[in-house]
Amino acid sequence: MIGWRCCPGCGLAMPAERGDVARGVDASPACAAVFAEVCGFGLQRHPLDRFQQLATDTYIAQHGREGDNPRLVHALTGLYLAIEHGRTASEVLSAQHALGRPASPPLTRPRTVPTMTVIDVAERGLMVNFVIGHAESLYEWADSVWAAWEPHHADVAAITREHLGGFITVPQRICFGFRA
Ligand SMILES: [Zn+2]
Repeated sequence: MIGWRCCPGCGLAMPAERGDVARGVDASPACAAVFAEVCGFGLQRHPLDRFQQLATDTYIAQHGREGDNPRLVHALTGLYLAIEHGRTASEVLSAQHALGRPASPPLTRPRTVPTMTVIDVAERGLMVNFVIGHAESLYEWADSVWAAWEPHHADVAAITREHLGGFITVPQRICFGFRA
């Protein structure tokens, strides 16, 4: 009989699987496997490959282990720059490299029930082989995860200002959609 297991990061209930997940991430192996498949779908289809950074940052923001976890700080900084400042994936990656290991206040993952998980992206893209569905749902997922971190938005903005002032432009919240 197959048991079920809830992902400790996003709450997604899936049949229990054995397996390992990345270090520093609170995710069930089944959830991590779906994420890997979603990444594979995106990476194999240009121009979806350029959304990989957003996908990774969103997944870590939803599953990153709390406490002193630079991966979580990097992911949140990435979402902040991409969503609030319209920075591209390559710009976000450069910023994260420049960020190093900044001091951060204790970060507590949102306790609210997520409105979207990686399975929503899989259902609208990978599972129906629909490129635009993948891109649009990925943006919506990223937006929802960033919104859920609202109690820490000021902390992330402060870290970014202190360490990456040059990456901040006049705030211009981007309008999500499939952009060429
Ligand atoms: Zn999960």
